[in-house]
Amino acid sequence: QWIFLGGEFVKKEDAVVSVYDHGFLYGDGVFEGIRVYHGNVFKLSEHLTRLYQSAQSIMLTIPYDKEEMEQLIVETVRKNELQSAYIRIVVSRGPGNLGLDPSSCSNPKVIIIAENLRMFPEELYNQGLRIASVASRRNRPDVLSPQVKSLNYLNNILVKLEANQAGVDEALMLNDQGYVTEGSADNIFIVKNNTILTPPVYLGALEGITRNAILNIAAELGYNVHETPFTRHDVYIADEVFLTGTAVEVIAAVEVDGRKVNDGKPGHITNHLLREFRKVVVSDGTQ
Ligand code: PLP
Repeated sequence: QWIFLGGEFVKKEDAVVSVYDHGFLYGDGVFEGIRVYHGNVFKLSEHLTRLYQSAQSIMLTIPYDKEEMEQLIVETVRKNELQSAYIRIVVSRGPGNLGLDPSSCSNPKVIIIAENLRMFPEELYNQGLRIASVASRRNRPDVLSPQVKSLNYLNNILVKLEANQAGVDEALMLNDQGYVTEGSADNIFIVKNNTILTPPVYLGALEGITRNAILNIAAELGYNVHETPFTRHDVYIADEVFLTGTAVEVIAAVEVDGRKVNDGKPGHITNHLLREFRKVVVSDGTQ
């Protein structure tokens, strides 16, 4: 396996970074996760836009422009001869002095990992997930924007730990006012009376690329779709609940805080959207 690391392709065993890298020392950097379907990189331009916006927000200069980055990503996929893959892009502040001032870091490091996809087992899609709300809150947008996919993902890691402790598959994260925001690394949707709802991102959710794709697909299929704030109660009484994300695609949640969602099985709108999503990803992508 070849990994792009700081300007060259190196073997997986040799892909190591300095202990002085501020990405390692302080979580100072940004990242993206992208899928490859049938050799095509899905929504590459949207992911690159988000990567460069994350970097802009934390004053990190990516040493390649978007076109160069696009080429490097496609090259990484080709070099590893991958058809279905998960790509991780990391841009760290690079090595510097101890001390968190980034001024001593003059060489931001770009890392591109493309590896064979470990698919979630199909039975998970048939059964659906159990999720639970957690005590940790989504960080406030005025402190650190949830739109920044930074290497400082501790907030999300803490909610994942809480979900693990509760013995469920995924966390339901609320904001400081108690509105539902998202999962630890996925967006949430509910369905009520055939209307599809997802929280507006200003409440504290990442504007997920899968989320946006599903909003478009659902609207094209003729469903009523709204971005609207809702609480845990609305999730408890929903007809269907599902999560979206690059890794999980579209997956039902069938139990929330111990309450069974409807009949406890993935709903037909969730299944419909997953089927349509999987059709779209075949044709939509950068070769
Ligand atoms: N929310 C968070 C916090 C995430 O990290 C992710 C993963 O990227 C998502 C939601 C889902 O976004 P996307 O569909 O772009 O993968």
